[in-house]
Amino acid sequence: MVEAPQLLLTGRSKMHPHITVVVPCFNEEANLAPLLERLDVVVGRLPVGRVDVVLVDDGSRDRTVEMALSLRERFPYLSLIELSRNFGKEAALMAGIDHADGDCVIIMDADLQHPPEAIEEMLTVWGGGADVVACRRVDRETDSFLRSLLSRSFYVLLTKGSSVPIPRNVGDFRLMDRRVVEAVRLLRENQRFMKGIYAWVGFRTKIIEFEVAARHAGVSSFNLRKLWHFAWDGITSFSIVPLRFSSYLGSAVALGSLGYGLFIFIEAVVRGGAAPGYPSLMTAIAFLGGVQLISIGMLGEYIGRMYVEAKQRPIYIVREHYRGRKITEG
Ligand code: UDP
Ligand code: MG
Repeated sequence: MVEAPQLLLTGRSKMHPHITVVVPCFNEEANLAPLLERLDVVVGRLPVGRVDVVLVDDGSRDRTVEMALSLRERFPYLSLIELSRNFGKEAALMAGIDHADGDCVIIMDADLQHPPEAIEEMLTVWGGGADVVACRRVDRETDSFLRSLLSRSFYVLLTKGSSVPIPRNVGDFRLMDRRVVEAVRLLRENQRFMKGIYAWVGFRTKIIEFEVAARHAGVSSFNLRKLWHFAWDGITSFSIVPLRFSSYLGSAVALGSLGYGLFIFIEAVVRGGAAPGYPSLMTAIAFLGGVQLISIGMLGEYIGRMYVEAKQRPIYIVREHYRGRKITEG
C-alpha cells in the first residue's frame, strides 16, 4: 500500500498550488485502485499545496461506487460525485468540473490510458505560463484500422466546419487553470462536445505529447455507434456547415436542372420533336426528391438540437456527493 502523500502548504499560488484531478468513471471498479495508487505516487513527488481527486460515477452498473467509497480510507482526499444515472462522459466531466475548486484542474480517464506521470510535465508547463496544457496522444496503435480511419475523417470534417480550430488527437486529458475552468462552467449547453468547448473558450494553450496506454481493465464504452453519435454531435454543435451544404447542394441541383431543361428545349427546337425522356425525367425527380429530403433532414437535426436546448434541463443530476477531506500540512 502506498502512503498518503506528504502535502505541503495550501495556497493559491503556482509555488504550492492546489490541484484537483477530475476522473469520470463508468464501470471502472477494477481500475480505480491501480489508478489512485499511481496517482498518489505521482502527486506525492510534486510540490503541491493540496490535492484532491474528484471521481464522478456516471451511473455505473458495477461496484464502482462501493470501490470508490472504500478507497476513501486510504486516500482521504478522494471525493465522489454519484450521478443519478448514466449521463455520458461529457456530462460526467462537467459534474467534475463544477465541483473542482483547485488552482488548476486536471482531467483524466479512469482506465489508466492517460498516464498520471504526465501530470508532472503538465504542472511545469502551467508554471511556465500556459493556461491550458492539453495532451496529444502520439500513438493510436491501440485502435483498430477502421476506428483510426474514421477518427481521421472526423477531424477533417470538424476542422473544416468549425469556427475555432480544434486540434487533432487532443482529448480530455488536460490541465486547466482556474480561469479556464470558470470559463468552461459558463457554457451550459446540454449537448456537450468538450473538445469544441475547450477550443471555444480559448486561452493560452500548450500541447504536450503522451503515449496512450491500453485500457487497464474492462472494455471501452465507446463502440462505433456511440462514436458516430459523438462525432455527429461534435460537428453539428460547432458548425453550421451542414446547413450551408444543403443550400449549396440545392442551388447546384437547381442550376443543373435549369441547364438541362434549356438543353432539352434547344435540342427539341433544333432537331424537332420531343425526346421520349422517361428515364431522364425519373432520374431528375428522384434526385431532387433526395436532395430535398437531405436538406429537410439537416434542418430537422438543428431544430432537434434547439428543442433539446430550449428545455434547459440540467446537464446532470447528482444523487450523492461524498466529500473528501481537506488535507493540508499541520
Ligand atoms: N465514461 C463515462 N461515462 C460514459 C462512458 C465513459 O464517464 O458513459 C468514462 C470512462 O469511465 C473513462 C472515460 O470516460 O474514464 C473514457 O471512456 P472509455 O475508456 O470507455 O473510452 P475510450 O478510452 O475508448 O475513448
Ligand atoms: Mg479508455
